Amino acid sequence: MTQTLEKLETPRVKPSSDGDFPLIFERSKGGRRGVIPPQADLARDLNLAEMFGAENLRSSAPKLPEVSELDLVRHYTGLAHRQFSVDANFYPLGSCTMKYNPKVHETVAAWFTDLHPYQDPTTAQGALELLHTLASSLATITGMDAVTLQPAAGAHGEFTGILMIRKYFEQRGELEQRRIVLCPDAAHGTNPATAAMAGFTVREIPGNAHGEVDFDALKAALSPEVAAIMLTNPNTLGIFETRILDIARAAHKHGIQLYYDGANLNAIVGHARPGDMGFDVIHLNLHKTFTVPHGGGGPGTGPVGVKAHLEPFLPTPIVGRNEQGTFILESDRPHSIGRVRSFYGNFGNLVRAYAYIRSLGAEGLKNVSSMAVLNANYLRVRLEGQGFNIAYKRVNMHEFVATPPDGLRTLDFAKALLDYGMHPMTVYFPLVVAGSMMSEPTETESLETLDRYAEVLGEILTRAREDRDWLEHAPYTTPVRRLDEVTAAKRPVLTYKKMLSS
Ligand SMILES: *Cc1c(COP(=O)(O)O)cnc(C)c1O
Repeated sequence: MTQTLEKLETPRVKPSSDGDFPLIFERSKGGRRGVIPPQADLARDLNLAEMFGAENLRSSAPKLPEVSELDLVRHYTGLAHRQFSVDANFYPLGSCTMKYNPKVHETVAAWFTDLHPYQDPTTAQGALELLHTLASSLATITGMDAVTLQPAAGAHGEFTGILMIRKYFEQRGELEQRRIVLCPDAAHGTNPATAAMAGFTVREIPGNAHGEVDFDALKAALSPEVAAIMLTNPNTLGIFETRILDIARAAHKHGIQLYYDGANLNAIVGHARPGDMGFDVIHLNLHKTFTVPHGGGGPGTGPVGVKAHLEPFLPTPIVGRNEQGTFILESDRPHSIGRVRSFYGNFGNLVRAYAYIRSLGAEGLKNVSSMAVLNANYLRVRLEGQGFNIAYKRVNMHEFVATPPDGLRTLDFAKALLDYGMHPMTVYFPLVVAGSMMSEPTETESLETLDRYAEVLGEILTRAREDRDWLEHAPYTTPVRRLDEVTAAKRPVLTYKKMLSS
């Protein structure tokens, strides 16, 4: 560590002189124009009142901001520079897998923008073949028998998977009896939420001193009243469940379905397959492991894989192939849970994931998880060396949990990191570790970046020990500093009043 704090403190984003960034409406000057589009022929020639009903046509022009093209470009470029992104900065947000997404996948996705979802499938054979191949690649990667690509997020994949389990028990006449879904106490919040949404009662299983699910407690909770166990492996502490084969055996003895939350498959991809561990249903987050950009709410993609006994329940349509070898969209599947998404999911994301898998190949994918796990373990040891407590001192997978020493607050470290141009780690999750700081460096970060992150955290700790007040008031260089989060959540101001009332 040779850099001084002063050097590191250089703000990444310079706040504007008044500390504020005007809204586009505040830049508006009456009569100023950017591009003036020609009058659209269509709008002139059509009788809009007849088409939409006169009462649905607006009587006055919308109050749009009046700005020049340059004003507009500066405004949005300025906003883009305030955006924190993995393209600009280190982003070790545990469980979210904020890894770099190679730009070539964007190019490949753009090749398909001429397609229309209502196009006759016989004219979109290449696109359907891509979906068919991607589904079978994901089945191979995960050890499952069939995959649907439709769900639009991880949580949506979970819901789709649990609905299939529900339908399976309904067909067997066991749904009345099987009302319970078991989730470990470290589970991602979407797991119990999914089970509850699908009408099940959630029962929580505690973890043990090693950060794994308590096998005896789990075994004691198994009964013919349980429909499913939802697990993540490695779990949300970044720890591999070493008794997974015992868990699968015990679950199946009671006819219970084992659900795998594979949002973070980057921990094991190419090395181990949930299908081989005994899981019956899985979902993946293509927007975490398979290089689809994410953050800011989407669009995501959460494919679901199943073992053969659940295949009849997959959502429709399925991309199939007829005897002539033509790819088709099959909808005639009597046991299907039905449609879960319009058209065929987030197609552009599926193209990105396909390109990623094809460009890496089997060896490359294996390298992904090797590097993700190596980076996370390296960082765990480095943070321990800087004086942080490690929640579970054992080899972790793609992420790990630390806590601050000396009664210092996790939140304050998260805020201080912003002054160093680094996104905070995930804080206060999983809930089972008080003050959890969960870092996930991912496989795409360099040794230098990992070292700098460890050194910055060490430096924050050193300075905080001398000056708690400094830590408690960070950040100092961001466009906004500490917000009143309670008021922001309870009384959010989301409309621009001045514009509306003028
Ligand atoms: C991210 C994540 C989810 C939810 O995925 P979304 O796409 O945000 O719905 C579920 N489980 C785990 C373990 C995750 O990390």
